Amino acid sequence: MTNPQPMLSVSEARARILEHFSPLPAETVPLAAAARRVLAADLAAPHDLPPFANSSMDGYAVRSAEAVPGASLPVSADVPAGAGLPAPLAVGTAARIMTGAALPSGADAVVPVEDTDDRRERPGEPPPARVTINTAPVAGANVRPVGQDLRAGQPVLAAGAPLGPSALGLLAALGYAQVPVYRRPSVAVFSTGDELRPVDVPLGPGQIHDTNGYTLAAAIEQYGGQALRLGIVGDQLAAVRAALLAAKEHGADLILSSAGVSVGAYDVVKAAIELDGVLNFWRVRMRPGKPLAFGHVHGVPYFGLPGNPVSALMTFEVFARPALLKLAGRRHWDKLAVHAALADPLESDGRETYLRVVVARWPGGGYVARTAGNQGSAVLSALARANGLLILPEGVTRAQPGDQFTVWLLDGGETILDADP
Ligand code: AMP
Ligand code: MG
Repeated sequence: MTNPQPMLSVSEARARILEHFSPLPAETVPLAAAARRVLAADLAAPHDLPPFANSSMDGYAVRSAEAVPGASLPVSADVPAGAGLPAPLAVGTAARIMTGAALPSGADAVVPVEDTDDRRERPGEPPPARVTINTAPVAGANVRPVGQDLRAGQPVLAAGAPLGPSALGLLAALGYAQVPVYRRPSVAVFSTGDELRPVDVPLGPGQIHDTNGYTLAAAIEQYGGQALRLGIVGDQLAAVRAALLAAKEHGADLILSSAGVSVGAYDVVKAAIELDGVLNFWRVRMRPGKPLAFGHVHGVPYFGLPGNPVSALMTFEVFARPALLKLAGRRHWDKLAVHAALADPLESDGRETYLRVVVARWPGGGYVARTAGNQGSAVLSALARANGLLILPEGVTRAQPGDQFTVWLLDGGETILDADP
């Protein structure tokens, strides 16, 4: 059954959609497989980090009170990294020590080799019999105390944390060989339309290459999903129903289709969903915008995205991306954004408008955003050229050059260049 069509703002529509999503169940995976996954439990340090006091320099471990400038100390030990626990430092002596080696008990400082008379440079040379201290260390100098980074039991990472390189490194340092993560969402995606051909099939008259199958699968993977590509499906009710059933049978956690959800005579997707599920058809005050189809089919959440490639990808960014991130266990899904000064005058009909722009660094600080070209919803080249989406908020009908707006960055910001003034 189709519900009556309410008029919703973008944020109202997104909030209604997100109510239907919660993180997938957790699973335990080896640390190396946890990259780009999302932590499913609060983790604490199982031991102190570092686990033992150690030297942060190559040099000589000493009692700082004895290491006065000019002191010549007998070298009583040689402590390489990884050599286990060294013997206590004999009174009145120094121990040669390497970076990362455990500090002998009794020592409270390390004199860097550069601050001694030791000029040995070849690897494997035994330590000298005596060493002369040139610069006196303060107590604690060049020593990394036990637990300097974390104490045993201290919270480390919270559930919902994305596991990037530094988080993985921290878990490795703490000995987490297995990590609890949320299951990776499996997202089925198919393109509907009798005019569509795969990219490797020559086009006949009236045919175009399927674009959305590629943009959407790439976007799914970019945000941590596993794309389940179901290809091209014709504009026939039975074909669309079969694709939706296949998605369910492959265990999809989310289904995306593109096209066939407007009011055209061959738009059968809507009918297919209504036979096997529930569809909410919303009019969202958004540009580019079409009615947004969101529902459930065979119990699986479903987005019916527009057919036009730009609208499909933008609707994905605004609505499906947060849903995917929430399924994946993330707690936050705000896009990385900058404030940028508009370069060109703009007019809008007052709907929340997403403009494809090229963001550049303004000499002297801040950012400037220029339109990336034709904003038509089928003009993919302007989206490919864009590195940002400038958001004209609801109610704004006119904007002048110099006005400041929020711009979502479409990548990590690496494509932002200096502006040509
Ligand atoms: P529809 O929603 O079926 O009315 O499609 C809207 C427009 O998007 C039409 O011009 C379609 O040819 C086009 N379109 C639909 N699906 C795709 C696709 N997968 N790749 C490229 N263009 C598409
Ligand atoms: Mg169509």
